Amino acid sequence: MPDIFIEGGTVITLDKERRIIKDGAIAIEKDRIIDVGKTSELKDKYVGDVVIDATSMIVMPGLIDCHVHLAQAMLRGCADDLDLIHWLADRIWPLQGNYTEEDGRVSAELCILEMIKSGTTAFVETMIHTRYGFDGIAEVVEKSGIRAALAKTIMDRPSYSTAEGVMHPGMVETQESLDEAVRLFHKWHGKADGRIMVWFGPRTVGGCSPELYREIGEKARELGTGVTIHHSEVKENVEYTLREFGMYPTYFMKEVGLLGPNVLLVHSVWVRDDEIRLMAETRTNACHCPAAAMKCALGYPPVVKMLEAGVAVGLGCDGGPSNNTYDMIREMRLACLLQKIHSMDPKALPAETVLEMATLHGARVLGMEKELGSIEIGKKADIILIDTKRPHMTPVHNPVSNVVYSACGEDVHTVIIDGKIVMRDRKVLTLDEERIIAEARERGAEVVRRAKVDVSPRWPVL
Ligand SMILES: [Zn+2]
Repeated sequence: MPDIFIEGGTVITLDKERRIIKDGAIAIEKDRIIDVGKTSELKDKYVGDVVIDATSMIVMPGLIDCHVHLAQAMLRGCADDLDLIHWLADRIWPLQGNYTEEDGRVSAELCILEMIKSGTTAFVETMIHTRYGFDGIAEVVEKSGIRAALAKTIMDRPSYSTAEGVMHPGMVETQESLDEAVRLFHKWHGKADGRIMVWFGPRTVGGCSPELYREIGEKARELGTGVTIHHSEVKENVEYTLREFGMYPTYFMKEVGLLGPNVLLVHSVWVRDDEIRLMAETRTNACHCPAAAMKCALGYPPVVKMLEAGVAVGLGCDGGPSNNTYDMIREMRLACLLQKIHSMDPKALPAETVLEMATLHGARVLGMEKELGSIEIGKKADIILIDTKRPHMTPVHNPVSNVVYSACGEDVHTVIIDGKIVMRDRKVLTLDEERIIAEARERGAEVVRRAKVDVSPRWPVL
């Protein structure tokens, strides 16, 4: 007898044939999908402990956010309309450099709450600084029920490409950050029924010596875990590696042993065609963050070229000050629109492709393509239900179009992760929403005060 039986929904399976099942049903036992098909065919076979009526709902795989800064959720609206170097040096680093472990925990709670409420069931956190309190954040992941790859910050140089020596002292870590990452790997990797993975998060070029990058790559391969790093996000990154090492950033990554199927390069805006080929040949993964690319004016990432080359390209919401939401549904829409205007071709990056990026490609990025990314027998039950009984979701001629072009995170009704109902009828069952919002407001204001950074509105406030 299944633990959960979902019936009567429009199921976008993302299976090999990309079937969409009208009046579809899904049977879930423990953490796995044990059957999927027409409700009429499955209803006589299964009686679930919990039956979820999915009438007027789109049922689909949970979304995978491949680039998240948990600590930045509390910095929403703190750094708008600035160029990236000043955005980092004048706002983000001084603010984050004043975080306490409690701030790190509450920001993670806020971020994960927002992600669950908008249909994200798994994410990659790119750089957890020691001062945010890795243990506290991992505990929040465990409690919330979400799935996550948590990357510990690793660095031995307080700089970012050309901006030498500008890093706030509170953000600096030393070579020991690699030992710390290894210690945290042994402590947390595979915990929470396997929902927690510990990756390595080296800083962007300029933040590590070539020797440290090499050690990170070797250690990650030895432990069989992932590495994620910001890559060619601004032109300065390219100028930096050309000047310092005489090579383009992707070749530098190859040189230090940081290309491969366990590596996730984020942004990859300023990559040439030969660098894309190199990524494809080495089966290195990519992550596209359309909102950040536009808001911070990073540039146009060559997403279509990467996909054509066979690179797995996940989607990411990035952070509170660069997006400023963690809503993967809105992110899918932006990804489509950005590629269309960039190529002046409305056929570029169709809705179906971006939905694959947010699910199947995300699963590849996590190294979990056999477990996640689609609704198929034997896969993990990471499933979301989206309510279509809303004016902006009516009518439903093509459910994929509704999800990508019409919906937003607020339309997500129910979230199941690892076979457990984490949100039902928009109520998150694992986290105290009211307490988290109250605490995040208070702590967000306190961090700004402590850092003495002026984030007041540009218009007079009475
Ligand atoms: Zn980022």
